[in-house]
Amino acid sequence: MSAKGVVYIVGAGPGAPDLLTLRAAELLARADIVFHDALVHPDTIALAARAEKVAVGKRCGKHSTAQKFINKRLIDAAAHHRVVVRLKGGDPMLFGRAQEEIAALDAAGVRCEVVPGVTAALAATAELGISLTQRGVARSVAFATPRVGEGEQASDWARSIAAADAGAIYMGAGEAEAIAAALIAAGKPPSTPVAVVENASLATARTIFTTLAALPALAGQQRAGPAVILIGAQYRARARAMERDASEQRQPDAESAPSSLATRGR
Ligand code: SAH
Repeated sequence: MSAKGVVYIVGAGPGAPDLLTLRAAELLARADIVFHDALVHPDTIALAARAEKVAVGKRCGKHSTAQKFINKRLIDAAAHHRVVVRLKGGDPMLFGRAQEEIAALDAAGVRCEVVPGVTAALAATAELGISLTQRGVARSVAFATPRVGEGEQASDWARSIAAADAGAIYMGAGEAEAIAAALIAAGKPPSTPVAVVENASLATARTIFTTLAALPALAGQQRAGPAVILIGAQYRARARAMERDASEQRQPDAESAPSSLATRGR
């Protein structure tokens, strides 16, 4: 099959439609067909005014059969259309399974280009206003996920986070207890500060500051939105302040709302 078009694997950013690169917006405007993830904001998809839109929503990108199906659809689309956009949440090259798509397109002789996007950890960092590489505190950052795909080997993700000054954990919000245990077992002190940021960049953004030891107890407060877990000494002051507030609220006449939560804005 001789390909007619180019497939652009485009980062949609973390959620807010205006956190999109100009290159991505321009490609969406020119797109003939757009295959998008479930988490991409409707206003971002709407930028592809003249394109056919196809939702290929695997929320966390786990199903290898679904991935093969997407690869095939991209190859087929390139045979019929000039500008094919594969729109992925955040940055396509970070826990985005872009590599499988690139490999499949290469094997089929279809040209493809990648357009980067703002990844969740950096949107979360902006939300917090606390640098991921705060000077004098964190000179290295590990990006990791505890999630192991079908047929993949387990990785020693906890050890790489423990070895770095700061860590960003993707696809882990539902496993707070196991994550805390794994990091403590890998040598992180239980008092290590943690920031959990949900729905970063959206009006519904919410942050929780805590410690590894207390992380499992906070897991139940998660809502349905995607969340990234940030680990590092730079969050210590905020984690302590939250802890103080929480213990004040545990006084008998205090409100019962959990105070370790912060909604949008600092
Ligand atoms: N390629 C994406 C990550 C895909 S994996 C990126 O670069 O951001 C999906 C995970 O990303 C979620 O489980 C969550 O950990 C994180 N995530 C995505 N959007 C997020 C958001 N708006 N706020 C917080 N975490 C988010």
